Amino acid sequence: MRIAMIGAGYVGLVSGACFAEFGTDVCIVDTEASKIEALREGRIPIYEPGLDKLVAENVADGRLTFTTDLKEAIRGAEAVFLAVGTPTRRGDGHADLSYVFAAAEQVAMAAEGPLVLVTKSTVPVGTGRKVKEIVRKARPDLQIEVASNPEFLREGNAIGDFMRPDRVVVGVDSDRALAVLKKLYRPLYLIETPVLATAIETAELIKYAANAFLAVKITFINQMADLCEKAGANVHDVARGMGLDWRIGRKFLHAGPGYGGSCFPKDTLALARTAQELGAPATIVEQTIAANEARKAQMAERVIAACGGSVTGKTIAVLGVTFKPETDDMRDAPSLVILPALAAAGASIRAYDPQPSHAKQSLPASVHWAENALDATKGADALVLITEWNEFRAIAPQKLKSAMAGQVICDLRNVWDPEAMRDAGFDYSSIGRP
Ligand code: NAD
Repeated sequence: MRIAMIGAGYVGLVSGACFAEFGTDVCIVDTEASKIEALREGRIPIYEPGLDKLVAENVADGRLTFTTDLKEAIRGAEAVFLAVGTPTRRGDGHADLSYVFAAAEQVAMAAEGPLVLVTKSTVPVGTGRKVKEIVRKARPDLQIEVASNPEFLREGNAIGDFMRPDRVVVGVDSDRALAVLKKLYRPLYLIETPVLATAIETAELIKYAANAFLAVKITFINQMADLCEKAGANVHDVARGMGLDWRIGRKFLHAGPGYGGSCFPKDTLALARTAQELGAPATIVEQTIAANEARKAQMAERVIAACGGSVTGKTIAVLGVTFKPETDDMRDAPSLVILPALAAAGASIRAYDPQPSHAKQSLPASVHWAENALDATKGADALVLITEWNEFRAIAPQKLKSAMAGQVICDLRNVWDPEAMRDAGFDYSSIGRP
């Protein structure tokens, strides 16, 4: 079987490589020539654990190829996946579908025979129908079926998530599309992954509903953390006490600086807009968006308060700036709000992140980039931990103490032990813990 993947980003590259690993011939196409050139030279344009090895092995076995030539990519492909971006449209919060629509039309124009066009990008309910119209108009002579196959992988654990998903959702309205998708995902049937076949509209909505629910869950525990701080309770224990109830579950109950990333912020916004437009407002999601935005700004105020009300002329060490550990992705990261606010308040910032390639372009030019965590803390008046990379967990409080000039630590991910930090002489604060 042969397929094509349109888009060599976080989703296209990982799913393309994983389908190749399943034994399918995959050609990944991207309009960004530098990405394709890098991939052809064996370089991976993003940081995702294990991806370099997976790509190299499947390229060596001849199942995975890269091109900028769409016609070449889709020649002989039974299915063509759209894995292009759907960022927030400027001004109104809707998903910008221009990449999806353009790619759908390009595929239709380049097609030489029947195929199944599968949208893997996260798209608002109703998009599949529009894609179908575009394709029919472009190529009334060809049988191009349209399907939806939303992706649930998480950056940082993307390969494991793709290879062992909780479920696969396929939105179809033809037997042929269902048969092609079932054939592609056959290796997952063997490990008994539930495959949920639904209408295209339903599949599109499942993705948004799932992401919005997780965003609500995070925001809920963040608000409980605020309440814990006022009431003298411990959010860690509250989360554990809640999460042990299987109806609630333990995941996504970690209080922090607010969610970020390439999905939750834009997907909650897009869902809220769609729901408003269709006359069924998702007010819980709207509240979540507002609470999360406010929270990121409050984090900078929290740091300034911990520094005695002013950071003017102070040096602040920052550990971790990517939106979460094990990725280089900076899209909508809380650090994008926190660091500029601290810099604007007069702080000079020494930051360290294990994967800073995108961060260096996205954060203020005044940020000084350290080579490692301890280097960042040298002579600092205060330390803020924003992203919980594993290597930060093991740092001994005494080492920090001898490196830093001041004693303020704001741990926005609750990774350190408050008692150990206080014993070491730090003025330590975390989220929702006494
Ligand atoms: P990305 O920005 O990393 O990658 C998109 C790629 O598509 C880019 O390389 C771009 O050059 C390419 N592209 C755009 N138009 C093209 C065209 N016409 N032809 C060929 N290539 C084209 O985006 P991403 O993070 O991979 O996300 C893709 C989609 O998957 C989005 O809808 C996103 O919401 C969804 N998604 C993302 C994640 C994630 O963790 N990143 C998880 C699940 C779903």
